[in-house]
Amino acid sequence: MSQPERILFRNIRVIDGSGTAPFMGEVLVAGRRIEAVGRQAGALDAQGATVVEGGGATLMPGLVEAHAHASFANTSTLEALGDIPPEEHTLLTMKHVRLLLDHGFTSISSAASAKPRLDVVIRNAIEAGDIPGPRMLAASPEITPTSGLGDVRLHHMHRDTFAVVADGADEFRRVARHFVREGVDTLKINPSGDEFVPHARARHTVMNDDEVAAVCEVARSRDKRVAAHARSAESVKMALRHGVQIIFHATLSDEEALDQLEAARDRVFVVPTVGVTYATFKEAGDFGIHLPGDVLDALEVELEAACANMKALHRRGVRILPGGDYGFLWNPIGRNARDLEHFVKLFGFSPLEAITAATRLGGELMMQGDELGQVKPGFLADLLLVDGDPSRDVAILQDRDRLLAIMQEGRFHKAPAAGRRVAQPMAAE
Ligand SMILES: [Zn+2]
Repeated sequence: MSQPERILFRNIRVIDGSGTAPFMGEVLVAGRRIEAVGRQAGALDAQGATVVEGGGATLMPGLVEAHAHASFANTSTLEALGDIPPEEHTLLTMKHVRLLLDHGFTSISSAASAKPRLDVVIRNAIEAGDIPGPRMLAASPEITPTSGLGDVRLHHMHRDTFAVVADGADEFRRVARHFVREGVDTLKINPSGDEFVPHARARHTVMNDDEVAAVCEVARSRDKRVAAHARSAESVKMALRHGVQIIFHATLSDEEALDQLEAARDRVFVVPTVGVTYATFKEAGDFGIHLPGDVLDALEVELEAACANMKALHRRGVRILPGGDYGFLWNPIGRNARDLEHFVKLFGFSPLEAITAATRLGGELMMQGDELGQVKPGFLADLLLVDGDPSRDVAILQDRDRLLAIMQEGRFHKAPAAGRRVAQPMAAE
């Protein structure tokens, strides 16, 4: 039997993703997995391996995007998202998953697909090796009640929406079963509104217990997960009551919601998606998006609440992950690593804590915590070689030119420059 290909990264700073301090060392990859991690120069056997000379660069786990919208088209409105025909939309989503991988995201967990089968089809094509892209968990479109976030239909004419509208437990159950049949990993529901939705604001809870329970029951019986757009305090509690595993936003959580999130911290993930809130409040105007004054005021209040609540949840040991709803004109796909910087500047995370959230916790979110998101023997070799030290300045990760190499399961998506690679001979038998 032929030996698996071996690649030795030498003279590197290792950020292993576990949260422990970076160290200088070596990492040996054999086939799809990490075989060994050495803490001294020359500790690992280079025979027959291709040696990558790190020159003091950093080797770290690939990033995980916890709230990806690969099929969102950087449009300025949700209506425009629905206007794209399926053929163009599939090609665009292909382009986006490649872009995410080019920016160091080797795994993504989708937070909703813009058409029923887009996520599923793209996930399957990546898995089959037909197109480049991160490993991916596919989501359903947003399942939302009439007048909820994502319902952009018009009463006076036929116009459908990118979301799927359901009302009452029976309809939610049917739609959930439908998307299970189509092969999603995650069912996405919208129990709260959002500040830019006129009649379903962030503080409004727009689904009821029976509806959330119906979707959770379908997920539980088929080994799927539910992710909830939950900004209002009540929507967070409702999601927790029925066993939702992925809580998006949680921005307007009250004390009771924080207590309940803490009590559920071993089974839930919180993804605040601060990137979009920050960009909408501070930067949308630069893109010609002029929101009404009351919406901007409300976004300011929500951003402040998000900062206070994420600091509190972080102290309480709740798993909070970067992932910022990138996919809108003023918050485009490709800038996703900016969320790590937001975690540092807005939530008081250390750069290393932000990296751990995007790697080790990301592996747990992907349901592969025992083999993904850390640089450890036996783990999948999803690795980034980074020019500089992101544990000092996490903003480095936003610059794709500083990603010297991107590896997925032992294969280079982006190979290091030829000058850094040297093949070592096998020892004579
Ligand atoms: Zn989203």
